[in-house]
Amino acid sequence: MSSAILKERQEQICRTESGDKFSIVCDKESLAGAISQRACVFCGSRVVLYPIADALHLVHGPIGCAVYTWDIRGALSSGPELHRLSFSTDLQERDVIFGGEKKLYAALMELIERHQPKAAFVYSTCIVGIIGDDLKAVCKKVAQEKGIPVLPVQSEGFKGNKRDGYRAACEAMFNLVGTGDTSDIPPKSINILGDFNLAGEIWMIRELYNRIGINVVANITGDGRVADICRAHGASLNVVQCSGATMHLARMMKNEYGIPNLRVSYFGVDDMAESLYSVAEFFKDKEMMARARQVVKEELEKIFPRLMAYKKALNGKKAAIYVGGAFKAFSLVKAFRLLGMEVVMVGSQTGTVEEYKELQEITAPGTIIVDDSNPLELSAFLQEKEVDIFVGGVKERPIAYKLGVSFCDHNHERKEALAGFSGMLNFAKEVYSSVMSPVWKFMPRMEAQDD
Ligand code: SF4
Repeated sequence: MSSAILKERQEQICRTESGDKFSIVCDKESLAGAISQRACVFCGSRVVLYPIADALHLVHGPIGCAVYTWDIRGALSSGPELHRLSFSTDLQERDVIFGGEKKLYAALMELIERHQPKAAFVYSTCIVGIIGDDLKAVCKKVAQEKGIPVLPVQSEGFKGNKRDGYRAACEAMFNLVGTGDTSDIPPKSINILGDFNLAGEIWMIRELYNRIGINVVANITGDGRVADICRAHGASLNVVQCSGATMHLARMMKNEYGIPNLRVSYFGVDDMAESLYSVAEFFKDKEMMARARQVVKEELEKIFPRLMAYKKALNGKKAAIYVGGAFKAFSLVKAFRLLGMEVVMVGSQTGTVEEYKELQEITAPGTIIVDDSNPLELSAFLQEKEVDIFVGGVKERPIAYKLGVSFCDHNHERKEALAGFSGMLNFAKEVYSSVMSPVWKFMPRMEAQDD
C-alpha cells in the first residue's frame, strides 16, 4: 500500500482480482483528519433541493454555509430562477448565545413577502443543531401566517454524511407530495427522480420519454416546480436516477401511495436505451416498446459515426473516476469502454458494498476501487496508474490539474449536457479534447517520459 494511505483507511480500498474474492468496507463515517472529499449533511440536502426553481431556499446558519453552497449546481430552469439566489440568516455570536429563532422568523416573513415563492425550504446547519433552535415551530408559524408550505430541512452538517442530507431533503419534499390535484394525469405517466438539469439534460430526457408516449408529471428536482411535486403521487411510476439522492423519496412514495420505482441511468448509450426499454416494459405496451426501439435506432444513427472516430483516437487511453454516488460510475465505466478506454481507478463518496461489488465485476483485474477517498490517496492512484483523464467534480479538478492530468467535470459545475444519446457524443468530444490537448506535452511528467 502507498504511504498516502492511512492505516485506518486500508480496508476502504480494494484492488480487483479475477474470481469472486472481493471485500471493501464502506458506508461509514469519514475518518477524522483524513480530509475526506465528502460534503456535509447540509450540502447533501442543498444539492437535492436546490433545483426547485420557484421555491425560496433559506439557510439558517452562519454565512459560510450559504456561500459554500451558493449556486452549487448549474440547475437550469425553463422559468423562474428564485433558486439561484442564496439567502442566509447570517447567524452571529449574539444569535448563538440568545438563539436565532426570532431572526429566522423575520427573515422568512420578509423574503416570502418580497419574492412570493410557491414554498420555502429552511435548512438547518451545524450551529443550529448545537444551539437547538426549534426550526419546525418557526416554519409552522410562518406557513400558517403566509399560507404556503414552509418546510424545515433537518440537515445539521455534523449529524452524518452527505447521504443523510439526501434523506433530509427527501423527507422535506415528501411533505409536498399528495397535496396537489391529480385528476388530469393520464395513466402512462412517470416522475423523473434524480436528474438535476445541470446543463439541460432533463429537457432532453423528457423529450425522449414524450417521443415514446410517456407523460412526465414531475421533475424531481431538475427544473423542478413545487406544484408538480405536490401532484407527483398521481404518476404510475417513479423512474429514479442517481439512486443515492432520491431513492428515499421513491421508497416513501411506494409505501404511502403504492407507486413502484425503477432504477435507471441516462449516461451512456446502453443505459439510456435501457431506460426507455425498461419504462416501456413496465407499462406492458408493445407499441411503446416499438417506438422506443425506433427512437434508439434513430438516435444511434445520428451519433455513431462520430463516436467511432473518437474511439479510434482514444483507444487504449486510461481513465480514473471519482464521483459522489457509485451508481453513476457504472455508466461511466461502460461509456469509457465504448470509447475503447480502460478504467483503472474508480471510487465514490457514498457507495454501498453491493455497488462496489458490481463495479468489481465490470472492471478489469487490477482496477483500484476506493470508498470515501481524499486528495492524497487520489493523487497517489492517478500517478501510480499513469491515467490520461480523471473524471470527477469540483473538488477533484485541482488534484488532476496539479498533476498535469486532463480532467472531465461530471458534476455540479459542468456546462455540457452529458446525458442521453447526444450527451454521449458531448462526453466523447470533451474526453477527446481534454486527453488529446497538446498542453499536456509541457507537463513535467510528460517531459520526463520524452527524455
Ligand atoms: S453545515 Fe456545518 S459542516 Fe456544513 S458547511 Fe455549515 S458549518 Fe460546515
